[in-house]
Amino acid sequence: MKKALTCNLCSGEMQLYTGPRFNKKFGSVLFVGGILSTLFWIGPVLGVPLMLIGGYMVSAKRQLWVCRECHTAIERIEVGSETKAAETKKEE
Ligand SMILES: [Zn+2]
Repeated sequence: MKKALTCNLCSGEMQLYTGPRFNKKFGSVLFVGGILSTLFWIGPVLGVPLMLIGGYMVSAKRQLWVCRECHTAIERIEVGSETKAAETKKEE
């Protein structure tokens, strides 16, 4: 079932948009840099984390609701561990 959202500002229809969370080029550069470091220069100590970060940056997605009329965007945030961490902080 499709849920339609209406824009707070202009009451226009909002559309779900899925896009990359990070700059894909930057993620690719990190990934390739990680492979090169592993093969040639510094070794896997730096190369493997670089590959992991780069791979994550390329694959991570985010979902936005974007208004068709005024292009206001609302980001969908996945609540879970982050919310729990915030709650723990409040208790301290
Ligand atoms: Zn709008």
